[in-house]
Amino acid sequence: MDISYIINELAEDRQQYFNAVSPPIMQSSNFAFDTVDDLRTAFEDEYGGYLYSRGLNPTVDILRKKLAALDNAEDCLVFNSGASAIFAAVLANVKSGDHIVSVEHPYTWAHKMFNVILPRFGITTTYIDGRDIENFERAILPNTRVIYLESPNSWSYALQDLAAVAELARAENIVTIIDNSYCTPIYQRPIDFGIDLVLQSATKYIGGHSDTVAGVLTGTKKMMERIFNSEYLTIGSGISPFNAWLLIRGLRTLPMRLQHITKSTREVVTYLKQHPKVEEVIFPFDTDFPQYELAKKQMQGACGLLTFVIKANTVAEIEQFCEKLKHILMAVSWGGHESLIIPKCAGFKPGHFDPEKKEHRMLRLYVGLEDPAYLVADLEQAFAIL
Ligand SMILES: *Cc1c(COP(=O)(O)O)cnc(C)c1O
Repeated sequence: MDISYIINELAEDRQQYFNAVSPPIMQSSNFAFDTVDDLRTAFEDEYGGYLYSRGLNPTVDILRKKLAALDNAEDCLVFNSGASAIFAAVLANVKSGDHIVSVEHPYTWAHKMFNVILPRFGITTTYIDGRDIENFERAILPNTRVIYLESPNSWSYALQDLAAVAELARAENIVTIIDNSYCTPIYQRPIDFGIDLVLQSATKYIGGHSDTVAGVLTGTKKMMERIFNSEYLTIGSGISPFNAWLLIRGLRTLPMRLQHITKSTREVVTYLKQHPKVEEVIFPFDTDFPQYELAKKQMQGACGLLTFVIKANTVAEIEQFCEKLKHILMAVSWGGHESLIIPKCAGFKPGHFDPEKKEHRMLRLYVGLEDPAYLVADLEQAFAIL
């Protein structure tokens, strides 16, 4: 399906709402019925129609159809956060006594689920370096039910060979789940490589304006229906109609925002790579990236997120560098209009800083929609303190 069609037309039945170009926000918690039999039918199959907005809602449905099509998936559920999409996807596929194989350093709250919540139910997780397919083969146990991927991984951008992992998992009857937040469906469609479930934080590029928290999960209709009827309705973590509307609006400009950010990021990477105070730039579409060939094979592009290692001897130097930035904000998240930075050293006490550890001197930069020259000038004036 053509991306322009998906973004501008798919699922938009304008005759239903006075030919309005922008779809309405169906801000209703419940939907009324004329006959008891209609109500009965809705109770029997909540996935088949509108009953209550913790379940289905017409504004959310427009978004669901577009996001499913973008992922080349049969169906989609949209959550009120990326974290709840992760939780539902995993929870729906494990039971007491099961085992999960996950890439090392998955997203913080996926990690929390694997380490703190699931062990309470006797579910264990083995973390592996996902860059080598043999590590998956070695980690799989007879009770492994789920393989959890994040490619590229945030900070390290480590990739997994999606086709190879999918093939291995299918042979063992294991469900594969990927966090695709970095790429979005514009730059990577894991279902095309045989991955079962694809999730992303829509807070990032889909929303695109740092004003909405949301998550997306796509897969087969059968799987989505099963998750809808259990985890989705029970946890009650569906997206609100208003936030769904904001995401539909975000989608209109997704490809052009990514195009701009991709181009700007290339300029910022080029600047950082030649800077004498930068030891290393880690970015999956950089020719020096160790998995560059795999990146090219399974991703159509890489956009705004990169890590660089600064040549600093003290934590104070890194702190001063970050605090001296005038336009690049210090904040979590990414994917919005504004450029952002996070130093790794914000994650530990200053006394633990060890300049010998490359990790401690890492900064994660997100390149937003600003003019790249404006961002480079900001970085340049901040580097002057070193
Ligand atoms: C932000 C993020 C999430 C979580 O999404 P929320 O919308 O914040 O709940 C998951 N994975 C990655 C890679 C993220 O960056």
